[in-house]
Amino acid sequence: MLTALTPQAPDKILALMAAFREDPRPGKIDLGVGVYKDASGLTPVMRAVKAAERQLVEEQDTKAYTGLAGDPAYADALSDLVLGDARPEGRLAAVATPGGTGAIRQGLELIRLATPEARVWMSNPTWPNHPAIVGYLGMPTASYRYFDDDTRGVDFDGMVEDLAGVAAGDAVILHGCCHNPTGANLTLDQWRTIADLLADRGAVPFVDIAYQGFGDGLEADAEATRLILQSVPEAIIAASCSKNFGIYRERTGLLMAMAPSADHLKVTQGAMASLNRLNFSFPPDHGARVVTMILTDDTLRADWAAELEEVRLGMLGLREALATALRDRVGSDRFGFLAAHRGMFSRLGATPEQVEAMRRDHGVYMVGDSRLNIAGLNAQTVPILADAIVAAGV
Ligand code: PMP
Repeated sequence: MLTALTPQAPDKILALMAAFREDPRPGKIDLGVGVYKDASGLTPVMRAVKAAERQLVEEQDTKAYTGLAGDPAYADALSDLVLGDARPEGRLAAVATPGGTGAIRQGLELIRLATPEARVWMSNPTWPNHPAIVGYLGMPTASYRYFDDDTRGVDFDGMVEDLAGVAAGDAVILHGCCHNPTGANLTLDQWRTIADLLADRGAVPFVDIAYQGFGDGLEADAEATRLILQSVPEAIIAASCSKNFGIYRERTGLLMAMAPSADHLKVTQGAMASLNRLNFSFPPDHGARVVTMILTDDTLRADWAAELEEVRLGMLGLREALATALRDRVGSDRFGFLAAHRGMFSRLGATPEQVEAMRRDHGVYMVGDSRLNIAGLNAQTVPILADAIVAAGV
């Protein structure tokens, strides 16, 4: 049976990581994988996470199963963080999932269960796991324009034009903030236009929010998600704690679905719990419990928010420094978009040949589509990257 298997296409980012490890050059720079790194190249355990874990080890008296939906206190705490005052009381179904990816997978399965013919719309480009999972589930897809190759901002006219083609019941995946891989984001006014358009058409927004707190702050980064929820009767939200709590390997996510009325809540919640049961039974609990402890304790929460703000401001500083270094070298504001982008990533807009030249000649590793991880930089490597970008003729 297993002899029938054929090789899966290698994951491009993992292949890039392997090539980076094998590169003997001491000055090499890893701007590939999507993990936050501090100035010394470490992905630290956040202070509040450490403190909560210590407390948990002391106090936890059972590791018996939680419910299929996870601990309701986790859903309460995280849905409040993401949705704030826009949380639709009495209409929000929520289940804990293995990471944001688990939430996306379960959310897509929920859509397929409800309406197998629904098309799933994705931005072009988007995080490659979106089309990979949608394709694996065999769901019909469509894509909408998103990135303007000239300005390196959002092609908003193209996006609106394409989304005008959505049908009632189609699902539209939107990055709640900090678009991956481009770093280009909509203004709040533009979000309003999109929310109204989807509401008019009867399409269902599927918000993927994986970087809350990495862009303009915890509240500002949630604004688009909240606005969308207030504009439509039903919506799906996949939230990840991997980045903003730095608990990548703990697999901590939450799938939320806003039911069109309180009458539909129970069956929606039941379907989501049942999908958990079918795929993995009980969701992981450790990360969820740590997140709950942090969000419900004033001291831990304040310390977590402060550390997250340091992370955010550090990345913004690197963006500014890189844009300035390039302005000094090219004598124009052509690379100003790097400072305007938000989140961990920017799409540089380099050709695959230029990306390869930067790797070959300067030991600079970025993903082939020229996505670079801003957090992979520090004060010493910013000028090296700026030189490499100019030398490659980007
Ligand atoms: N969505 C996007 C756009 C992402 O970039 C990521 C992380 N790479 C995720 C969701 C989910 O991450 P995780 O499964 O690690 O929580």
